[in-house]
Amino acid sequence: MALDLILRKACIGGGEPRIVDIAIADGLIVDIAPQIAADAPDEDVAGRLVIAGFVETHIHLDKSCILDRCKSEQGTLAEALAEVAAAKGAFSEDDIYRRARRTLEKSILHGTMRMRTHVEIDPRIGLKGFHAIQRLREDYRWALDIEICAFPQEGLLNDPGAEELLIEACAQGADLIGGCPYTDRDPHGQIARIFEIAQAFDRDIDFHLDFDIDPSRMDLDEVCRQTQAAGWGGRVTVGHVTKLSAVDPARLAVTANRLADAGIAVTVLPATGLYLMGRQHSHDIPRGVTPAHRLLEHGVVCSIATNNVLNPFTPFGDCSLIRMANLYANVAQIGRPSELTACLDMVTTLPAKLMSLKNYGIAIGNPADLVVLDSTAPALAVAELARPLFGMKNGRRSFVCPPPRMLTAGL
Ligand SMILES: [Zn+2]
Repeated sequence: MALDLILRKACIGGGEPRIVDIAIADGLIVDIAPQIAADAPDEDVAGRLVIAGFVETHIHLDKSCILDRCKSEQGTLAEALAEVAAAKGAFSEDDIYRRARRTLEKSILHGTMRMRTHVEIDPRIGLKGFHAIQRLREDYRWALDIEICAFPQEGLLNDPGAEELLIEACAQGADLIGGCPYTDRDPHGQIARIFEIAQAFDRDIDFHLDFDIDPSRMDLDEVCRQTQAAGWGGRVTVGHVTKLSAVDPARLAVTANRLADAGIAVTVLPATGLYLMGRQHSHDIPRGVTPAHRLLEHGVVCSIATNNVLNPFTPFGDCSLIRMANLYANVAQIGRPSELTACLDMVTTLPAKLMSLKNYGIAIGNPADLVVLDSTAPALAVAELARPLFGMKNGRRSFVCPPPRMLTAGL
């Protein structure tokens, strides 16, 4: 077989990190071995860490980059919801496409190769966001794979017409559907309706859930109950669940076991949690970030993701998932190498599992989706925010970010 490239001396994870050569032909990984003897173009990455690209499970491309038209003065969830709802009226499909493209390109340059983006549907925005992101997905297929989760940010049962649009999005190819029970007049009613639509269209579900730090009332139990009743284990994700940042370890353990039993995955969004939660406190402010690494210990599939970029929900964002893993480690007070390694897993292999990706990972037969990080070990990569140096999607180079270089005096 004619090889297109051999990536030499790549450090790959999965148990104990090891140094291997990776052979690529026709866009696929065709061999992995300590030393591949073949006459083919090669590139020596000198023991650097190679991953199969970062996996973003929760981002909102459609409402990114709108700080020029929204304010974030109180920094509360209520303000963010109101500001974006008002700004949405002026969104056009082209405007959404242009802003989403800016965010998407930043993600690509930071090594993301798989992505689940949430897209809002409601009677004000219609399917404009959905159509813009569908177009973007086609235009950037050479660099990353996008799945679209259509969801009613402003409620379902309280918003006549939203349900028809959600169904229409499914009919037009939405990969999965989401819910946002906390903005609905009837949170449990919305959860039930989302499950009915998901079953009718055979779609996975990704809820925005339990997004404050008052654990006295939670919708999580209802999602667990409905997941089991529908037989939807392994097909449901809940994002935020910041209420779990406010429960004691005993209650967290009970909840984690319940999530693992029901087959529900959790996405933690540290930048947004840190920005929006605890605003009622004047000092000694709670962090509002759910301890995903504790949930992992109970067998819950967890990911760390970006969520919002440059809007009132999160007026930050360079779309780097290694930065999110590092931010999480800081906030969660993680220092052990095994836990830092788990932080890298939560932006690579675990989100791939959350999204049920069948062909993710550095393995023979998988697409040659490879990102070379300027690091030699997973824990160090998180600790040092290792730069992605270059990436290949389906065997084709999709970005390069050469390392900065000092210009030493006298040379
Ligand atoms: Zn979100």
